[in-house]
Amino acid sequence: MKKVRVRYAPSPTGLLHIGNARSALFNYVFARHFGGDFIVRIEDTDVLRNVEGGEASQLNYLSWLGLSWDESPDKGGNYGPYRQLERLELYTKYAEELLEKGLAYKDFREDSDAYAIRFKVPSDVTYQFDDLVRGTLKFESKDVEDWIIMKDNGIPTYNFAVVIDDHFMEISHVLRGEEHITNTPKQLMIYDAFGWEAPQFGHMTIIVNEEKKKLSKRDKNVIQFISEYAQMGYLPEAMFNFISLLGWSPSENEEILDQKAIIEQFDPKRLSKAPAMFDKDKLAYINSRYVKMLDVDTLAEKARPFLEKADIEIKDDAWLKTLVGLFQDRMSYIGQIVELYQAFFHEHFEIDDEAYQFLVENQSLDLLNAFKALLETSSFDAEEIQALIKQVGKDTNTKGKPLFMGLRIATTGDMHGPSLPVALALLGKEIVIKRLEQTMNRLRGDL
Ligand code: GLU
Repeated sequence: MKKVRVRYAPSPTGLLHIGNARSALFNYVFARHFGGDFIVRIEDTDVLRNVEGGEASQLNYLSWLGLSWDESPDKGGNYGPYRQLERLELYTKYAEELLEKGLAYKDFREDSDAYAIRFKVPSDVTYQFDDLVRGTLKFESKDVEDWIIMKDNGIPTYNFAVVIDDHFMEISHVLRGEEHITNTPKQLMIYDAFGWEAPQFGHMTIIVNEEKKKLSKRDKNVIQFISEYAQMGYLPEAMFNFISLLGWSPSENEEILDQKAIIEQFDPKRLSKAPAMFDKDKLAYINSRYVKMLDVDTLAEKARPFLEKADIEIKDDAWLKTLVGLFQDRMSYIGQIVELYQAFFHEHFEIDDEAYQFLVENQSLDLLNAFKALLETSSFDAEEIQALIKQVGKDTNTKGKPLFMGLRIATTGDMHGPSLPVALALLGKEIVIKRLEQTMNRLRGDL
């Protein structure tokens, strides 16, 4: 097999979108699996659509995702330059060669010397290629009109420039989105015209939303830019894992795979033909699995900026670690710590009907009263609270659910939740006593 060289070729027209990120990721994984090179090339010939900072943002979020590349505009390499606008001479030279060979012609604008160059599409040729994903695809040249390869401003069109670049950059495989299938015959015409060998193409399936409609950048129900996930506190390793499952599946059932495992297990034969569904719940689930794997120190440092931004006072490092430790199992992304904190420390403490009924049925008043008395003189660290829970159980002859769930409901309003002693220590004495009093008053009123 020829040396594997693949590329990701974004147009710097905006932020890194989930669909582009997927193309980049699969090319990267492909290169690393086969020990090849991964190249980033900037396709900036659509001058009016280029946005300032577009290229930097693309590269920035690719490396956030954990991708690295061997050649690019910022890194250089032996096949540069890596921005199409810096390669205009090359396109001009080859367009002129096609003119000389009679395979292209000048198309003059009315009343002007300015001309575009059109490729003369041969009649009655069948273009066919073996797509890595879809098998053999065939196109008839008679369905394609003569098309512009160079615009009258001297800038090449995508279908022409991409061939010149892929050829001279010695690209061996092209993995890209399905929307490029119909471009491929035009590209094959150019390879044929120069007598060059075309790379092997693979067109990855579209990504659809939960209504099975093609994901569109305007779809407001799905967050689609990698920067947005980064800002919410999704973990790059989890995003990498999730994106790798959009149109590919590992042969084993286990879907939680780190980059190394994905690269090892990657097999182009397992790229899927069926549309890949962007499943938000799956993303949240995968991310929560990665959050759970973090050690508490790392999680605390990742959560800190989110709490600070929400003006939540971080008492000290130990407090912060207790807080994140308490919620680690419930967080699907790190920014959620703010909501969880707010729900936990809510000012308006409320117990819903089902939970309150539990207190009524178990006649919890004496238990709560005794617990309050013990807490009042306690130093309120989690260990001591743990001991006091035991003691109040003995003192009031209460055990099991009536004890543990009773105290939990009366102090947190919830029937289930994280470790109660830790939670109470975090809430602090003042809030816990106030809540106990509030709950007891309600129970007394209902007697
Ligand atoms: N610039 C093209 C795009 O962003 C690249 C397509 C290709 O990989 O050939 O869709």
